Amino acid sequence: MSERIRSAAVIGAGFGGLALAIRLQSAGVSTTLIEARDRPGGRAYYWEKDGFTFDAGPTVITDPACLRELWSLTGHEMAADVELIPVSPFYRLNWPDGTTFDYTNDDELLTREIGALDPADVAGYRRFLDYAGGVYREGYEKLGHVAFLDFASMVKAAPALAKYQAWRSVYSMVSSFVKSEKLREALSFHTLLVGGNPMTTSAIYALIHKLERDGGVWFAKGGTSRLIAGMVRHFERLGGVVRLGDPVTEIETLGDRVTGVATRSGWRGSFDAIASNADIVHSYRDLIPHSTHARRQARKLINRRFSPSLLLVHFGIRGRWPGIPHHTIMFGPRYRGLLTDIYDHGVLPQDFSLYLHHPTATDPDMAPEGHSTFYALAPVPHLGKLPIDWEAVAPLYADRIIEEIERRLIPELRERIVTRFHYTPADFASDLNAHQGSAFSLEPLLTQSAYFRVHNRDDAIPNLYFVGAGTHPGAGIPGVVGSAKATAALMLGG
Ligand SMILES: Cc1cc2nc3c(=O)[nH]c(=O)nc-3n(C[C@H](O)[C@H](O)[C@H](O)COP(=O)(O)OP(=O)(O)OC[C@H]3O[C@@H](n4cnc5c(N)ncnc54)[C@H](O)[C@@H]3O)c2cc1C
Repeated sequence: MSERIRSAAVIGAGFGGLALAIRLQSAGVSTTLIEARDRPGGRAYYWEKDGFTFDAGPTVITDPACLRELWSLTGHEMAADVELIPVSPFYRLNWPDGTTFDYTNDDELLTREIGALDPADVAGYRRFLDYAGGVYREGYEKLGHVAFLDFASMVKAAPALAKYQAWRSVYSMVSSFVKSEKLREALSFHTLLVGGNPMTTSAIYALIHKLERDGGVWFAKGGTSRLIAGMVRHFERLGGVVRLGDPVTEIETLGDRVTGVATRSGWRGSFDAIASNADIVHSYRDLIPHSTHARRQARKLINRRFSPSLLLVHFGIRGRWPGIPHHTIMFGPRYRGLLTDIYDHGVLPQDFSLYLHHPTATDPDMAPEGHSTFYALAPVPHLGKLPIDWEAVAPLYADRIIEEIERRLIPELRERIVTRFHYTPADFASDLNAHQGSAFSLEPLLTQSAYFRVHNRDDAIPNLYFVGAGTHPGAGIPGVVGSAKATAALMLGG
């Protein structure tokens, strides 16, 4: 694009769409953000039920600097709109044999925790941290927010990829540094938070460890939805326009350019440029019906590997649980085998590993007095694998998850429940237009990263852009906020 963009539409108000809209509006581009659902946030939606506040998705906020930047672009302070609270420990890891491991950025405490698993691994962990620091600098600081539009950009990154043995998996790399199986799990599970199987996701993703150690783990007062609300407030303060509850049904084209959007309500708008934060398959397959190029792109994407989905059980209970930290990972009896079942075989396993979110540990106001809010999350296959009747299976699976938490963590949990509901892969598909109900879009494999991911600017339609989990660098809040920076640079930089 050589001519200056004066007006833009961003389709979808997920973290990526919002971050892009703020960047464009901050640069003087008159920006309209169009969201299908009644509330902004996308994966970061929320519900209020019986006095409990339930965040639908992201809860671990890392790299707060990438968020603050969205305010500082125009000399504003994020703190005026959002209060971020540090979380410690970052996570408590818990295994079926009763072992626990508190993962923190207090060096002394962490060393003690590692020593308790295996004293011989303390030195190995130091070497792993050095490695993670290296990939963080190369993979995140240098390349996490620049677009990969051509193969040459990939070639330029090749020496760094080779130096850090990016072809190896995170688990394999971690295993080269430490011997304790539990520590290997503790240092490799993070890829699951962005949809990757630790056994196959590139070792580059070890950078998440460094990201957390340096930037900390944070939670927004009131929940992640308050961070979203703060972003919306900031965007509107700058003059941006938000349309909610009105899905885009078509991106209009003329020749090789996009010219405007039409929505379900019958509203139409003309724009110099359009960026889609909606699911990548949905965008190419459903929204650009008159472009053969878009149809071809959709066909190519459908054959790629998408991340699994999730089953979430939300529950509000009687009692306060100060002994349960904000984030707990409850490993099941299997690690590699469980992941293979979910990622490759596509079967719903008998056993599970859970992430338990306990926001009232940090912000008691998210539940009524004397009560607590939780969600439990289990990775499950996406809808493109073996058929699973989620309507029938989900209540039973959710029961088993509740029983497991009762057995291992919260006595009499079932009697304490005041309110409870669950969210399935079918909900991801219907609420978010997520292809195959995937929770994280394209799986973060090396062969689907950087240049091999959906490009932040379309190759054939020069004023059509993409932002969010399906684009470079990928899923997770820092990832999609980084993708917004990459896309904004293309849109604003000519
Ligand atoms: C349960 C869960 C827990 C997670 N935990 C963490 C975590 O702790 N930390 C972390 O960093 N990351 C986490 N992630 C990942 C992170 O939440 C996502 O990668 C990120 O939020 C995705 O943002 P996005 O910009 O791609 O947009 P999305 O959130 O996918 O939003 C896209 C938006 O587009 C809208 N849309 C779709 N079609 C249309 C249309 N036709 N017209 C208009 N709008 C449309 C959708 O309604 C949606 O609002 C988690 C994800 C899930 C699901």
